Amino acid sequence: MSAGADAAPTRHDGRLHVYVHVPFCARRCPYCHFYNIGHDDGRESFFLDALEREIDRWRRAGMFEGARLATLYFGGGTPSVLTPAGFGRIAELCRTIAPAAEALEWTVEANPDDASIERFAAWRERGVTRVSIGVQSFDPARLDFLGRIHSGERAVEATLLAAEAGFDDLSIDLMFNLEVEGRKPAWAADLETAFSLPVSHLSLYGLTIEPGTAFAARADSGARLTVPDAAYAAEFRMACRAARAAGFEHYEVSSFALPGHRSRHNSAYWTGAPYLGLGPSAHSYDGRRRWANASSLTAWAEALSTGADPRAFVETLGPTERGLETLYLGLRTAEGVGGDHPLLAAGDARAVVDALLTDSLLRETGDGRLACSERGFLVLDSILDRLATFVDDPPPTAPAPVGGFDNLQGGRYRFMDS
Ligand code: SF4
Repeated sequence: MSAGADAAPTRHDGRLHVYVHVPFCARRCPYCHFYNIGHDDGRESFFLDALEREIDRWRRAGMFEGARLATLYFGGGTPSVLTPAGFGRIAELCRTIAPAAEALEWTVEANPDDASIERFAAWRERGVTRVSIGVQSFDPARLDFLGRIHSGERAVEATLLAAEAGFDDLSIDLMFNLEVEGRKPAWAADLETAFSLPVSHLSLYGLTIEPGTAFAARADSGARLTVPDAAYAAEFRMACRAARAAGFEHYEVSSFALPGHRSRHNSAYWTGAPYLGLGPSAHSYDGRRRWANASSLTAWAEALSTGADPRAFVETLGPTERGLETLYLGLRTAEGVGGDHPLLAAGDARAVVDALLTDSLLRETGDGRLACSERGFLVLDSILDRLATFVDDPPPTAPAPVGGFDNLQGGRYRFMDS
């Protein structure tokens, strides 16, 4: 399909949020389900040539007209494996999309092993404002369990180098829910180290066992890789306490930030703003439709070189799906959803809300909005299941009990990968 009717200009409200999936990793981690392949110079050029075509395709479709680039996010994969020349080219390409809005937020994900003062300084010169480092843990046993190639010392050094290069919008990822010996003190130590560093943002991931990964094969053979529910909850709440003590706001189920340092790009996802994903496997949403590119560098690039549509699927959301999406996304955030959300008026949803308030899984924020409590975040999918009951099915006579913990960042109601 050419960039014709189905690729009509998106609604972007004049502010573009662009995600670029850089599909290269030095080595595949055993739990990872994101599309990625090994890096070499030939593949890098192949990727960048196709990316240029994809940007041109959307430009010809009118996607960027009248817009300003509000946030730009290079994720993956591992954008930091790009050569300096490759990074320069991708930066130039993205600069051609639209003029930058005032205070453009531009995030680049980095692996600790790629960190150097020269690399970070070059990113800053290009206009990058924010670095997100894939630390996961500082503990050797946990890093070994996760199949990560960096050491804890290297993760500390990488964070300090990014700060030294001038990044005060500096995020790290940490992972919990790992069935590793001595996990409780190691998790406490990870949190202590994280909050002793000059970071302003933390993304917290509960390990999920995704189909098709090496961990899924091990789990199928009987290996226990994640912790029991009670330990999961204890680890999550330990992280919440440590973040609070360090002055961080828990502004989204998996995200903590010092005041003024929330991720504006990710916040755009959670508030239902349109965003455009570029690169293989990248997801997009235009307020009405969502789509994903082919999860193959070759298939995505070949489609673009022949003028075909590089997308694997496009789906139009109906009012119910949009309602569920805004409910789910809103309940991920500390701001929650308006108490007048249409799905909260469906059937006996209000009775469920009242029960969730009584159980302290939901809280009223004081401005007519409803948000998850810390305990509620742990069972977000179950809360959604209970509220979604009223969309298709008749209401139950009594709300079902909420049980089982949902993995943060995962779950049935996840609508985008980033
Ligand atoms: S977890 Fe990150 S570094 Fe590991 S394979 Fe996946 S994208 Fe690459």
